[in-house]
Amino acid sequence: MADFLEHIRAELAGIEAEGLMKRERLIEGAQGIRVQLGGRQMLNLCANNYLGLADDPRLIAAARAAMDRHGYGMASVRFICGTMDLHRQLEARIAGFLGMEDSILFAACFDANGGLFEPLLGPEDAIVSDSLNHASIIDGIRLSKARRFRFRNGDMADLETQLKAARAGGARFVLVATDGVFSMDGYFADLATVRALADAHGAQVMVDDCHATGFVGSQGRGTPSRAGVKVDILTGTLGKALGGALGGYVAGPQPVIDLLRQRARPYLFSNALPPAVVGAALAALDIVEGAEDLRADLSRNAAYWRAGLQRAGFRLLPGEHPIVPVMIGEAPLAQAFARELDRRGVMVSAFFYPVVPKGQARIRTQMNARATLADLDFALGAFAEAGRAVGVLS
Ligand SMILES: *Cc1c(COP(=O)(O)O)cnc(C)c1O
Repeated sequence: MADFLEHIRAELAGIEAEGLMKRERLIEGAQGIRVQLGGRQMLNLCANNYLGLADDPRLIAAARAAMDRHGYGMASVRFICGTMDLHRQLEARIAGFLGMEDSILFAACFDANGGLFEPLLGPEDAIVSDSLNHASIIDGIRLSKARRFRFRNGDMADLETQLKAARAGGARFVLVATDGVFSMDGYFADLATVRALADAHGAQVMVDDCHATGFVGSQGRGTPSRAGVKVDILTGTLGKALGGALGGYVAGPQPVIDLLRQRARPYLFSNALPPAVVGAALAALDIVEGAEDLRADLSRNAAYWRAGLQRAGFRLLPGEHPIVPVMIGEAPLAQAFARELDRRGVMVSAFFYPVVPKGQARIRTQMNARATLADLDFALGAFAEAGRAVGVLS
């Protein structure tokens, strides 16, 4: 045991020495566009709270009402005695919102992706996966027995090469798996081309729309709606724009959802979502469907923020998603930059290896519909000062 703990300590010391240690900040009070840390109010530019619903009084009231009627916990997986009317209402509501036949809830999208592939595809089949897909897709694919093909991020020529390779290998069924939005870069997948190539090679398409559902596409229906295509299977989260609590889902054709209910391991062997979360998610979908005002504020903010950073001289990745990464380079510099912003009342998060490649450390900023232009001007001022303080700007 002593040897083992010594080994773990050395591992931690290595992370620290490389400047890769992540430290968690303690928020006092609710998550929102403003948060309190150490008694200070900070502007929060690093939450997945795109529509600002995480502390919305309507969701809090819906959660309370669901708890009053349905109690606190489920103390059961769904198939034993953990399915309430609320769970089925939410599954039907999600499916309706996304234009799918049905959906199935999981404790998180990590579990939805983790449990999706193994029941649906066997060793005769193939999965063709984008190289920058979320960790949960990568893990879920590893857990299946299907043959794996990987294409370079967003490279549609390589996707076609891999589809041909899967077909040449004699695959029975082929599934293309991609994030709708790549969360480290804020890039959209080219779903129109993905769909066309999949059709040309007799493949199905699975999209993880965690960073899109609620605010991308018509009425927030996500990246397929934005691209004007239909996909076969969608996964997503309740933990980002749809209130930000927790929960995930798979939406798709009835037989797919039915089989996942029988076989998906994170569904079968993990507790049902609590009523408060389910009740609030139903309210979130009601809000989101009509939230043209919030979506308009979010895109106005994203455009204003991006333009302001560009004018200040920061290196950005091109795009229009409310994820706006400010590219820094080395991890310690990105962390120093984040600390300088912290001192100036702006909360951001530095992303570095292993979350992004070495040498591509960045500050991933994320816009929120609830930020005002005055908030963004304040943050732009702080970015410029911090940038000069650490030498990112000259
Ligand atoms: C956040 C995220 C997940 C995980 O969602 P949780 O519900 O928090 O587990 C999965 N995939 C993508 C693309 C994500 O951005």
